[in-house]
This record gives sequence, structure tokens and C-alpha cells, in this order.
Amino acid sequence: ARRKLVVGNWKMHGVAANLGQVTHISIAAEVTDIDMALCLPATLIERGVRAAPGFAIGGQDVHAFPEGPHTGAISAAMLLDAGARLTIVGHSERREGQGETDADVKAKAEAALSAGLDVILCIGESDAVREAGKAVATVSAQLDASLPDKVADPARFSIAYEPIWAIGTGKIPSVHDIEEMHSALRGRLVAAYGDAGNQIRILYGGSVKAANAANIFAVDNVDGALVGGASLLAADFLPIVEAA
Ligand code: 13P
Repeated sequence: ARRKLVVGNWKMHGVAANLGQVTHISIAAEVTDIDMALCLPATLIERGVRAAPGFAIGGQDVHAFPEGPHTGAISAAMLLDAGARLTIVGHSERREGQGETDADVKAKAEAALSAGLDVILCIGESDAVREAGKAVATVSAQLDASLPDKVADPARFSIAYEPIWAIGTGKIPSVHDIEEMHSALRGRLVAAYGDAGNQIRILYGGSVKAANAANIFAVDNVDGALVGGASLLAADFLPIVEAA
């Protein structure tokens, strides 16, 4: 059975004054039997690790190259050096806002995995694609084109299905639509990696809150969540963890 994984993505939120929340959340991780992590802004990673010893802190993006003339970018080795254990790649806010392609995302995932970071690879459809009835086909194709060629350890690689129209909007897909998507993605993972594809966790993301978490976690092939806004405060995040 796949162990549940609940990850917070702080996006561009958080300064030193918010580190108390990291500590608070990390203490809960000591008593839960699911996996947890927080993906912090790069400036907070090292201090987050100090504020939460033993807890998994991650980055939100990584460059595909180990080093070089890439102003503003951060390599996998740099994230590891700061104490990060994982990174998100391919978030829709980077695909849309920074023009990242599936090929870019694949290169980032491969670089991070081979450097020793766990990876959460994000995919998801726009409102227009959902309305056109093409969500499953579009997201499946996005997954196929973004997947690393090899995944040595399926426990270190997760997918996050995040419908763009559900991010920060309070809207979520129906349980039926989540199940249909996650089941299609499971099929793609098995097609790509054989039985290891059954061990890769598929998280749901987009407006996950305490009030809807239990229903989402009960869906087949939902192995956890990637949580944005509701991960900034322990009081919002920990009830989601408890629902998992
Ligand atoms: P919200 O939980 O704020 O909708 O954000 C979801 C998300 O994009 C997590 O990566």
C-alpha cells in the first residue's frame, strides 16, 4: 500500500517571522504515520531546516543544470546544500508564468532525482480544457511528456494533479472527476514504469482545506495532497494531515 503524503507549498509567502509555523507543523510530523513535507521559498529553506530538525523541507523549483550562467536559478546541489530533501517541479504557476515546457519539466525532474532530491511533478488542465471535455487526454499527454525516463525509487517520486482552475479559487473537481483523472494517471505510470508505477504516489492539489480533505483522500488513487494557502498556518494544515 502507498503511504499517504501531504505536502505544503508556501509559494511566494513567508519570511523569518513565519518559521514558528514550520516548527509547529514539524512537531505534528513526529506523531503521524503519514509522510509530510513543506516546500518553502528558497530564502527560508536553510532556516526552515534548523527550525524543524528531522523534518522534510523542500524547494519549489530547480534548474536542470548543475551550475552555470543562469541568473536567479537554483541547482539541485544548492537545494541539497541548504538542507532540502525534495523539490516541486512543473507547477502550473511556473509552466504558465515562466513558460516552462513539458521537456523543461522532465529535465528538471531527472536532474533533481539523480542529484538525490525527491521530486513532486505537477500537471493539470486549464478551465477551458476541462470545459471542452479534454481534461483526461490533455493531462495524460502532459504527464507522458514530463515523466523522467527512469525512476530508480518510486517512493522518491510523486505526481501532483492540480487542475489550474482549482488553485486558490475554492473550487474543486467532483470526487468522480478526481477519481477518473487519478485512475487514468495511474495507468500512464504503469505503462511507463511497469509495476513501479503502482508505487508512485499521486497527490491531488487545488483548494484542499480541512473541510474537503477527508472526501478527497477517500478517492481511489489519491495518495495525498499538495496544499497551497492552507499550508501557511499550522492551524489550517494540521487538520488536513489528520484527515489523511
Ligand atoms: P491552493 O491550495 O492555495 O489552492 O494551492 C494549490 C497549489 O497550487 C499547491 O501547489
